[in-house]
Amino acid sequence: MEFALFCTKVNILILILALCSPCKFIQSPMDYGPSNLLETKSSASLDFGRIVFNSPSAVLRPQSPRDISLLLTFHSASSFSKVAVAARGAGHSIYGQAQAIDGIVIEMDSIPSDIYVHKKRDDESGVSYADVGGGVLWVELLEESLKLGLAPRSWTDYLYLSIGGTLSNGGISGQTFKYGPQISNVLQLDVVTVLGGLGQFGIITRARILLQDAPQKVKWIRAFYDDFDTFTGDQELLVSMPELVDYVEGFIVPNEQSLLSTSVAFPAHLGFMPDFHHVSSAKVYYCIEFAVHDFQAEGTSAEQVVEKISKQMSYMPSLVYSVEVSYFDFLNRVRMEEMNLRSRGLWEIPHPWLNMFVPKSGIKEFKDLLLENISPNDFEGPILIYPLLRDKWDANTSVALPDAPTGGDGVEQVVYIVGMLRSANPASCAAGCLDDILRRNRQIAEAASAGRIGGKQYLAHHPSLLHWRDHFGRHWNRFAARKNLFDPLGVLAPGQGIFPRVHASAL
Ligand code: FAD
Repeated sequence: MEFALFCTKVNILILILALCSPCKFIQSPMDYGPSNLLETKSSASLDFGRIVFNSPSAVLRPQSPRDISLLLTFHSASSFSKVAVAARGAGHSIYGQAQAIDGIVIEMDSIPSDIYVHKKRDDESGVSYADVGGGVLWVELLEESLKLGLAPRSWTDYLYLSIGGTLSNGGISGQTFKYGPQISNVLQLDVVTVLGGLGQFGIITRARILLQDAPQKVKWIRAFYDDFDTFTGDQELLVSMPELVDYVEGFIVPNEQSLLSTSVAFPAHLGFMPDFHHVSSAKVYYCIEFAVHDFQAEGTSAEQVVEKISKQMSYMPSLVYSVEVSYFDFLNRVRMEEMNLRSRGLWEIPHPWLNMFVPKSGIKEFKDLLLENISPNDFEGPILIYPLLRDKWDANTSVALPDAPTGGDGVEQVVYIVGMLRSANPASCAAGCLDDILRRNRQIAEAASAGRIGGKQYLAHHPSLLHWRDHFGRHWNRFAARKNLFDPLGVLAPGQGIFPRVHASAL
């Protein structure tokens, strides 16, 4: 144990010395010690987007949070600080956000996963929670907490993302309207001082996540619309009933193919394939997904709650489907789609994604803008769209939500999240085509950020400091001050492309 720690220190020091003499002197970090401590790996220049591929000079695979603090302490207390450092969780960024060109990537998954779950006793006044390492995946936390009948309250659609990775961004899903994003459900953190900071302010080595009792089963409903206003009206109705509804999402159906790609997890035995043409001649359809947990007051079933809710909704009467699934399967539904796409060689391909927060006042115009810019016949992937409630977000985090419009009552409570989660299959969309999609995404993002729509990118990717200033708007000074306080050399998370590097000699 002692020996391992000693080796760690020595190797980190040698690594930094080596990196900070001109990088070309590094033969291979492997030359300096055991492979679990330092090694270069091609995965460090790869992410889910498969659009940006920046190689680091070295990879640190820490065995404990102490290895990370040693690295950062040596780093900031010396003139070695020209080397950028990025934490890498599950590497599911799109545009190289967890990469560090010629720097050090810290692979958080190497820290042995250790999850402690505390279940509140009936006679105790506190809460149930889990203490969990920053590199642990959300699915691992779910598996562990379910052993005690507990689960986190707020999720992402896909669970193979790391705790530190989503807490650096927000963490949004169909529960966000009710409990806020994942960053609103954290009780304590080790190391990091500011949440939602895009990895700019520190490395999250441990988080205390709020838990609640987990249901056994979930009633999962899909209802279809051919009219956008009716669709969003019903979504907003659902999020106004948090005492009945546990999950609300939705998606645009620009073609039948897109329906297939979002339906793998919706049990196939239902023969789930709406026949739109018999009921409507619309070109585009919309689908609301909502769910109700099987926890209900005595004498009431989830089925009855769904019935009560459905009576108030205005979907196309023949186009509603429901199914009961286990809570784990419900939360893990995107894994089934992943497996399906993997089996067809369609998972490890470029993903030119665009995610935007759009205020309610601009959502219809934004939907029109999106549909004008895609060709339904060659669009692959889901287009998610669902409402969130502004008051569930802590204004002290660094996430940039759209400004509330001025005039009227000054606060527009509903903000939509829209995810254009497009795949670019190289078989049908080669390099030029991918560039074209990326250019178009940028145009959509710029049109949506300016003027009447007033949107902001989520998981943002911007080409210049000026764009980032616009992104943070009136919060830019606060964001820059936090950076200056917690990372004055601009060493952390260079892949976000926000701050130009400041070298020690310039301070
Ligand atoms: P990485 O890509 O490894 O890192 C992302 C950023 O966080 C980098 O800047 C990195 O340096 C920083 N970082 C990573 N770990 C730490 C740490 N421990 N401390 C400090 N900084 C750190 N998002 C949602 O909100 N809702 C969804 O439903 C959703 N679904 C998704 C589905 C898929 C299939 C994919 C690919 C992504 C999805 N995302 C979703 C986006 C996802 O939340 C972000 O991309 C998130 O950053 C991924 O986590 P990661 O562990 O892969 O992070």
